[in-house]
Amino acid sequence: LYLDQPLAEGAEVPATAGQAHYLGGVMRRGPGDAVLLFNGRDGEWAASIAALRKDRCSFRPERQVRPQEPLPGCRLLVAAVKRDAMDWMAEKATELGIGLIQPVLTRRSITDKVNTARLSNIAQEAAEQCGRLTVPRVAPAAPLHAVLDAWDATPLLVGDERRESPPLTAAVRAMPAGPWAWLVGPEGGFERAELDDLRRRAFVSTVSLGPRILRAETAAVAGLAVLQALAGD
Ligand code: SAM
Repeated sequence: LYLDQPLAEGAEVPATAGQAHYLGGVMRRGPGDAVLLFNGRDGEWAASIAALRKDRCSFRPERQVRPQEPLPGCRLLVAAVKRDAMDWMAEKATELGIGLIQPVLTRRSITDKVNTARLSNIAQEAAEQCGRLTVPRVAPAAPLHAVLDAWDATPLLVGDERRESPPLTAAVRAMPAGPWAWLVGPEGGFERAELDDLRRRAFVSTVSLGPRILRAETAAVAGLAVLQALAGD
């Protein structure tokens, strides 16, 4: 379970009301039962439930069972798309080890409303489910050009469905070791001028995931799976 509280031996740490409901109402756990806790800073802790009432619960951390792992340096940049697709991408990107989810606004974005808090909650639940000890940061949505203008030197691979770019696998092999970022466009794709602007930037490589046009969320997750398998982080 993720808790935004310091974890140390002997402390009594309050859980959220949602966790109290989950443990008592859904999982039928009670005082003394074992749980695993992490907070993204202090590693993973074996703990027991110290007290559990309807909407109140607290834990007692007993010993650290895994040291803290660093937040991965790899990033997902994704054009704002429909809410369900954003939710699904946040979950899958967390499972695939992303450290930062950056929603971007592009010329063909059909929405500029991205609920960062909702995506953070989804990322937190996905982190609990997949056993990672960090929760990716979800940045507020920002215009693509602003994100690119403030970019560091991290290689940015951009999904291009127009059959004008080499395969993602080839680009990964040519990439230096270290962090990377993966960008996918919105439902309507990037405008030509946007792709031209991207290609002018030294840190960008446009790449293909094959001859079929994938939905944005499919492209996001497929690209991350390839990158994670070949480049890791
Ligand atoms: N412009 C397209 C159309 O309507 O014909 C659709 C764009 S696609 C739904 C959304 C995004 O997914 C694209 O901007 C691209 O980043 C990524 N994408 C989709 N298929 C891809 C492929 N085969 N290779 C690489 N990226 C792809």
